Amino acid sequence: MALAPAVSPRVAAAQEKAVRAVRGMPSPKIKDVTVITVQMGVRLVVVKITTDQDGLYGYGCATFTQRAELVVPAVEKYLKPFLIGKPADRIEDTWQACYDSSYWRNGPVLNNAISGVDMALWDIKGRQAGMPVYQLWGGKAREACATYTSVGGNDTAQVIENAKKAMEQGFRYVRLQVAVPGMSAYAAGGGPGPKLKGLHEGAVFESGPYVRRAVKMLHEARAALGDDVELLHDAHERVSPREAVQFAKDVESVKLFYLEDLLSPEDLTYFRQIRQQCNTPLAMGELFNSPHEWNPLISERLIDYIRVHVSQAGGVTPCRKMAILGELFGVKTAWHGPGDVSPIGHAANLHLDLVSANFGVQEGGIVRGQLAEMFQGCSTYKEGYLWANDAPGWGIEVDEKMAAKFPFKDTPDGLNGGWGEIRKLDGTIIKQ
Ligand code: MG
Repeated sequence: MALAPAVSPRVAAAQEKAVRAVRGMPSPKIKDVTVITVQMGVRLVVVKITTDQDGLYGYGCATFTQRAELVVPAVEKYLKPFLIGKPADRIEDTWQACYDSSYWRNGPVLNNAISGVDMALWDIKGRQAGMPVYQLWGGKAREACATYTSVGGNDTAQVIENAKKAMEQGFRYVRLQVAVPGMSAYAAGGGPGPKLKGLHEGAVFESGPYVRRAVKMLHEARAALGDDVELLHDAHERVSPREAVQFAKDVESVKLFYLEDLLSPEDLTYFRQIRQQCNTPLAMGELFNSPHEWNPLISERLIDYIRVHVSQAGGVTPCRKMAILGELFGVKTAWHGPGDVSPIGHAANLHLDLVSANFGVQEGGIVRGQLAEMFQGCSTYKEGYLWANDAPGWGIEVDEKMAAKFPFKDTPDGLNGGWGEIRKLDGTIIKQ
């Protein structure tokens, strides 16, 4: 016996009309994949995908500033020939195909190359739909997203003074970093006095003096700045695992918003010890490239904020999944967003922030000056919040002629954007 139609003739006619409209919309094919390289302070890499449909293209962030020049051939020599002629509207499938096509995977260079493609395809999807990407992911979960700023100082008094200035500018979340005299402390400069001389000629850092100074500074800053501001600190993986456990315990009563990168990715198992001993909120992940790194920390609830650098993880497709995984386990997002993220990457961060129920805070994301001229349509900063441009896709147009005037240049140190080195007094290399 034939089954009766499940819908009325009127509904069936409406559905048929809708199906005809979708089928009449040709699927765009990838026609070209190019790379835009810009050096404005740091080196930025952006991938552009052009489709066979007139005026339909998109941009994605592929910035791995310390090895920026290696990402370019990863896109041009490997992903471009792999992608030409493929449909531009099958993002998940394309991501999986690119990820698998190198066989060996989860490295920062290849992940950034994939990210450039991935974000560009989401940009295209948004432009095709006439919607910002956040609408494709379900729409806004909030009006705008809080961003934090980082302040440093030679000593506690200067840190507090700079934090007050940031608070006057509307920041409700402030990261505090203090210098250590004579040493190369993270995000606080060389500090007062002459540079310490070790048994070598280079920059010096010792974790003991840093930890003791930072703990004292954070307690005094809380007392001076009051209870209405959220305070953050980044240890930047510069302490030993044992110092890390003690550090987290010693600042517990400061009630930080979070303590970041207390451990290096090589020492992740120590998070269990920290969790067993104190309640300081923990943020981790800007150095991560692989699901093997973030999955256990999230599923075991060993951290509170995931700090992944979106392009290092392969783009917004994997990071959207990561955000949802975090939501299910009570871990919030705080995507990495300093100056070594392109404006396209900042926009992608913000669109993820807007749709995630478990958004925590956003780092940086404020684009100004010549970079804002080159990347038109960046988010607006107002009183502590980032507001998205509501134009389709990421909402950003790149002035490619202007970008061409800022090519990568040789640097006096000859390192092409790579970092130098910092050593202990005795000459032992440290993670920086
Ligand atoms: Mg950090």
